[in-house]
Amino acid sequence: MPQSRKLLVTSALPYANGPIHLGHLVEYIQTDIWVRYQRLRGRFCTYVCADDTHGTPIMLKAEQEGVTPEALITRVGQEHARDFADFGISFDYFGSTHCPENEQLARDVYERSRAGGHITRRTVEQAFDPVKNLFLPDRFIKGTCPRCHSPDQYGDSCEVCGATYAPSDLEDPVSALSGATPVSRSSEHHFFRLGDFTASLKAFTETDALQPEAANKLREWLDAGLTDWDISRDAPYFGFSIPGAPDKFFYVWLDAPIGYMATLWRLLNARQGRPLTLEEIRKAWGDYEIHHFIGKDILYFHALFWPAMLEAAGLARPHAIHAHGFLTINGKKMSKSRGTFITARDYLAHLPAEYLRYYLAAKLNGRIEDIDLNFDDFRARINADLVGKLINIASRSAQLLTRFAGGRLAETLPDPALFQEFAAAGEDIGIHYERREYSRAIKLIMELADRANRYIDDAKPWEMGRDPAQHGALRAVCTQALNLFRVLMTYLQPVLPAAAAQVSTWLGGTDLSFESAGIPLLGGTIEPYQHLMRRVDEKDLAWVAPAPAPPPAKTQAPAARAPAATIDTADFGRVDLRVAAVVDAQTVEGADKLLRLSLDLGEGRLRTVFAGIRRAYDPQTLIGRHVICVANLAARKMRFGVSEGMVLAAGDGQDIFLLGVDTGAKPGMPVR
Ligand SMILES: [Zn+2]
Repeated sequence: MPQSRKLLVTSALPYANGPIHLGHLVEYIQTDIWVRYQRLRGRFCTYVCADDTHGTPIMLKAEQEGVTPEALITRVGQEHARDFADFGISFDYFGSTHCPENEQLARDVYERSRAGGHITRRTVEQAFDPVKNLFLPDRFIKGTCPRCHSPDQYGDSCEVCGATYAPSDLEDPVSALSGATPVSRSSEHHFFRLGDFTASLKAFTETDALQPEAANKLREWLDAGLTDWDISRDAPYFGFSIPGAPDKFFYVWLDAPIGYMATLWRLLNARQGRPLTLEEIRKAWGDYEIHHFIGKDILYFHALFWPAMLEAAGLARPHAIHAHGFLTINGKKMSKSRGTFITARDYLAHLPAEYLRYYLAAKLNGRIEDIDLNFDDFRARINADLVGKLINIASRSAQLLTRFAGGRLAETLPDPALFQEFAAAGEDIGIHYERREYSRAIKLIMELADRANRYIDDAKPWEMGRDPAQHGALRAVCTQALNLFRVLMTYLQPVLPAAAAQVSTWLGGTDLSFESAGIPLLGGTIEPYQHLMRRVDEKDLAWVAPAPAPPPAKTQAPAARAPAATIDTADFGRVDLRVAAVVDAQTVEGADKLLRLSLDLGEGRLRTVFAGIRRAYDPQTLIGRHVICVANLAARKMRFGVSEGMVLAAGDGQDIFLLGVDTGAKPGMPVR
């Protein structure tokens, strides 16, 4: 029976070297909606997550910042926890993989795997940085592509021609850390014999633990044959040392998924008020129905390595792995250089968290599909669905009820059949939530919202307000409408927990559980309507970078020019550079090379600047972009008007590339 299910739900562990961004949030919001739905149905559901804190990138980032890795992961952990809280992600525990419980479990999994004969050791040759004294992961080696000879390509693939290769194939390889030429050095590594688990992984694909697309992918990998998995890294490395192997550490991907279990361990310690033993946590793990929510890019780790590790350690396998696709922004991959990299903080500075929860819910389904966050569509949907349909039901009926009936609800519903129809819809909506088909749940809920609005439009309670003899009928209609609204908020509670809580308080602490959806709220007096949600205006989205113009076709590389004569800091300081927003851009009659730009430098007025960039840019694509402007250049009278500054662009006389700034910069900010 559903009530006896004991669920353990996880989201993938975010890496502790950078901020949470909208791409991450797809997964946390997807998971949180599912978790909140389960809890709303009275199921025992525990949701844990942790920061993934180990590995070379963390070690190097800490070094770059001049702090210890521990200080870095503590700071980032706090930032992540705050971001998740602000998006309403309801973890029971958010921990860190850098904790004693995780170390003990990682060693236990390793020892048991070794005792079972699943660990092997052999010597491998690897690129080594002789200056930094460390082995280099492929992405820390750069050099010239062996195929197209483009310089400055990564050690595993070329971004220009798409070739993939081994770092040793690069021409003129250098360490991205020190610039030194890497040398080849050998080292003994520990391997997990993944192939030992081929048969049971094959059986795993036959269960319903995986989505059909994921099971197919897994079969492909199994058919290709499983090779040993390198689970060790040499010192220096930020991670857990391997027992009995000096200067060897567990590869971050070994201890990361074990972090799910370590975090459960810490939660159970806190819940029970005493530390559980290793044996107790191993047993407790097996008591749960385990659901992992992950991105499609880490399916390999969760569907192959993780079940094999668990089996080797004598632990229960997950009940289900739910993979999702990636998020694109306005149809583009998130990218810092395109200005489409949006952090949780960037978003929250401009828009309410629950709008993103709603928008993603309206697009998410149970399959592994990429979803696009198109901000025009976002604005249209929030305004049409949440403000125009949902909130509209409450605001107009509550205001009429307060004005003409003292806020007193009627004793009975005028249309109980319609109300029961709303209450009965909860079953289908619940099934969609359970199957992670949130877009279908939202569609049903919005169809009901349309019905509720039609009910009000047909009854015309505002006309009843004019005639005191009809105030009783007005009261009945508004009571009906508010009860329909209350049922809709119940169904939306997993998606909009803060709005639902606000509505519950407003309606005198009314219970918004699925079970009580069929019991109407009658007879009492409601508080005056309070503002629940606002519309999204075009100006709320001005911070989102529009798609930039495609770069002009590349010509041959320009010859490097010698730098100009030396200046001192004071010379440079005389140039007042500012961030400017392009408010308008127009072609100039009679001037083939010029565009007339209207720039906002945060001065409370707009400046006109003529820029010789017409050949490279379509004016429409510039509007909304941020550029860099010389703010204290003497105004220059031109044939077409006065130019009050200059925008900066890179160029060699052939091509022109405007300078931009990363997301978050505001008009008027000085550039130094
Ligand atoms: Zn290439």
